[in-house]
Amino acid sequence: MAKTLDAIVIGTGQAGPSLAVRLANAGRKTAIIERKLVGGTCVNNGCIPTKTLIASARAAHVARSGADFGVTLDGAVGVDMRRVKARKDAVVQKSNQGVTDWLKGTPNVTLIMGHARFGGPHAVRVNGELLEAPQIFVNVGGRATIPDMPGIDSVPFLTNSTMMEVDFLPEHLVIVGGSYIGLEFAQMYRRFGSRVTVIEMGPRLIGREDEDVSQAIKEILESEGIAFRLNATCMSLAKRSDGVAVNMSCDEEPREIVGSHVLLAVGRVPNTDDLGLDKAGVKTDARGYIVVDDELKTNVPGVWALGDANGRGAFTHTSYNDYEIVAANLLDGETRRVSQRIPTYALFIDPPLGRAGMTEREVRESGRKALIGRMQMTRVGRARERSETKGFMRILVDAATKKILGAGLLGIEGDEVIHCILDVMSAGAPYTVLQKTMHIHPTVSELVPTLLGDLKPLT
Ligand SMILES: Cc1cc2nc3c(=O)[nH]c(=O)nc-3n(C[C@H](O)[C@H](O)[C@H](O)COP(=O)(O)OP(=O)(O)OC[C@H]3O[C@@H](n4cnc5c(N)ncnc54)[C@H](O)[C@@H]3O)c2cc1C
Repeated sequence: MAKTLDAIVIGTGQAGPSLAVRLANAGRKTAIIERKLVGGTCVNNGCIPTKTLIASARAAHVARSGADFGVTLDGAVGVDMRRVKARKDAVVQKSNQGVTDWLKGTPNVTLIMGHARFGGPHAVRVNGELLEAPQIFVNVGGRATIPDMPGIDSVPFLTNSTMMEVDFLPEHLVIVGGSYIGLEFAQMYRRFGSRVTVIEMGPRLIGREDEDVSQAIKEILESEGIAFRLNATCMSLAKRSDGVAVNMSCDEEPREIVGSHVLLAVGRVPNTDDLGLDKAGVKTDARGYIVVDDELKTNVPGVWALGDANGRGAFTHTSYNDYEIVAANLLDGETRRVSQRIPTYALFIDPPLGRAGMTEREVRESGRKALIGRMQMTRVGRARERSETKGFMRILVDAATKKILGAGLLGIEGDEVIHCILDVMSAGAPYTVLQKTMHIHPTVSELVPTLLGDLKPLT
């Protein structure tokens, strides 16, 4: 006998809990199902723990740089990895508990712990029970890709999830993958005191960014002692008495790098392979992402997909924005769409990269007439005062409409400052609005109007 509800949410990622609570507050009986950790990736093994660990790593870095600021320490700076992990665990536990309590304490919401699988277009089976609802929302997220690399089955390796259990200092951490997740772990562990090597298949780091950004990031990380091996296109793994060897049989040297530990950070796959989607008739693309329209509806009426599993974003803010879109359309009579949002994200190395809209390469490829402003962080007073002058800011403007097309801020506070640009883009206002706004001195943001006052044609 099936239990009937008004709505079922599968997964407690960054969209599911908020949506379940909104639906419940609108009087709809809602079940939300989680197979592992309430709060999903961001809370348990993604954004929150990594940024908490990054904060410990930065504290070590600042302590080591104390002498440059006239601050002296008696003895060397040490890092106690057990305490670093305990601090991270405490922050994660609070967030995880907060989401759990919120769901359990909301009338009309039932939190069910178990693995959910579709039993039909409007039916879900969990813990042997069949639930039915006219509306089902899939928020199952993704997990680390385990590459099909020779030797992978015979060596121990780490992923972003198992890294959360590390309470010791790896002597030499080899990170396969030179993109966002890999680079954040690279700087973090280097600052904890490990030797770190990043191995990247492509010719440069974070290939989606402009080339000068990739180069500047490489130089920043190299200046802290991180080693890179690019163009590693033919990798295999092998066990060694002192750790794991990553072999690269391609042309460039070195052909082998042995690490005490290997972290795989080569991408993510959606958690859609064990969800019974075929029973519901929900379509996925070739990579397993659930196909959705601009309002996040799947091909099956009454079934939506939100967050990383729909392939329309890979961030906490895109997942949360998915929730806002679905809730506004279902409950507030609005017509919000995914295509209305401006792509934005950050790379949380130090200094961070804040990004919004198009890259310079994308603007060039679009063929439109554009203006460009570029400024080294050495010109920014706040950066000089803090002795953190690495990086540069770039902004691109449409020459005809005067609207901002995109920006990349690689430098101190770049992840915060990007929002003043993002908000003007979202308002659809010309760049001159921002250029004429008086900003506070001495901040990084005060240089944004200056940058906009010095635009040149993009040639
Ligand atoms: C190391 C790392 C760092 C990151 N840092 C950032 C950052 O700084 N900023 C940022 O914006 N993003 C970051 N991200 C990405 C971010 O974590 C995700 O984009 C975000 O969590 C959104 O995911 P989601 O809502 O799609 O689902 P998830 O958070 O992945 O949650 C999905 C949930 O569904 C559950 N589930 C899956 N299948 C089933 C099933 N069949 N039955 C029941 N439950 C199921 C899972 O157990 C999981 O709890 C990071 C990711 C990683 C890995």
